[in-house]
Amino acid sequence: MTTIPLSSPDLIDCDVAAVLEVLCGPRLSLGPKVPAFEQAIAERAGVRHAVAVNSGTSALHLCIKAAGIGEDDEVITTPFSFVASANCVLFENGTPVFVDIDPVTWNMDPGRIEQAITPRTKAILPVHVFGRPCAMDQILEIARRHRLTVIEDACETIGARYKGRPVGSLGQTGVFAFYPNKQLTTGEGGAIVTDDAEVAALCRSWRNQGRGENGGWLQHERLGYNYRLSDINCALGLAQIERLDEILTRRACVAALYTEKIRNIPELIAPADAESETEMSWFVYVVRLQDEFTRQDRDAVLEKLRSRGIECNDYFTPIHLQPFYQSRFGFHYGDFPITESVAERTIALPFYNQLTEAAVERVCRSLREAVHSRQATRAVA
Ligand SMILES: *Cc1c(COP(=O)(O)O)cnc(C)c1O
Repeated sequence: MTTIPLSSPDLIDCDVAAVLEVLCGPRLSLGPKVPAFEQAIAERAGVRHAVAVNSGTSALHLCIKAAGIGEDDEVITTPFSFVASANCVLFENGTPVFVDIDPVTWNMDPGRIEQAITPRTKAILPVHVFGRPCAMDQILEIARRHRLTVIEDACETIGARYKGRPVGSLGQTGVFAFYPNKQLTTGEGGAIVTDDAEVAALCRSWRNQGRGENGGWLQHERLGYNYRLSDINCALGLAQIERLDEILTRRACVAALYTEKIRNIPELIAPADAESETEMSWFVYVVRLQDEFTRQDRDAVLEKLRSRGIECNDYFTPIHLQPFYQSRFGFHYGDFPITESVAERTIALPFYNQLTEAAVERVCRSLREAVHSRQATRAVA
């Protein structure tokens, strides 16, 4: 029995050739591939500037700095995300303020933002979760009214659109990430996109030890970091971005195959269709068990799938329930009930470009058996 992995990067001969070309040349870093990749990302996002950095987390950190977040400033964000989208606020001694999510889209519920605003609120950081654009009109309107900066975490959502506009281009800054499980990979990497020339120049300086644009190598104008992305990574990114449309189409096809089968399993809820004003960019394929199932049921289903060689996971553990957040902020179970209720019932299934129809069939067959047998156990209990 072969194992079906949870994710798998899609690397072909031209990706390998692009990397080899850099390895055979004189410049492994600070060479021409970095601005070329940035140009391609900026075009794709429909913005003037892109700044490539060594991870999505670094990119988020620089966006928080660019927004001027400091001691005691509050940033409104979602607890249903990867931990980095809240940690970036803590890097600058700000405070993440969570609002609960929409039970259907799993994105931050815009109807809950205003009641979370205080005199200390400086920014809203929406996360486009699993490749689904947030309700940006509402978020931008609230931000405008309260003079708040919007930072979009689009790490899972490159290529998606909201009312025709690329996700990541709607706030002051937007962030993409290129870890190998993302739609486009550079091995490790991230990028900040923005229309603000001053923000872009600051991010370029911060990522390169605080050096100025025209200053010397040992001239440091501000406190900076080494958040640079190498030419090796950028060459891979350039090769990948040429295929991005193809990649996104393929992923949408795999998602459609899954949804057709999942809708025939009554114990499961398939991901909602894309809202009419949006185009999704499929990052992962996550289903959830109906409300009558518990976390223990879900964990038993995960175990059963794994025992059959099907990798799967429980995305996301809510950020407020991470041990570090519980001990530092005193969060506990019950604080964000919709997030918790979704999070304890989700199952991320194998999802990648090359996943075959036969493999999707095998996953869904095992999944159906696993939930049916759990249902039978519950009936006896
Ligand atoms: C992947 C991801 C990031 C950034 O991850 P890195 O591993 O630092 O590149 C940030 N936020 C979300 C929501 C992500 O999925």
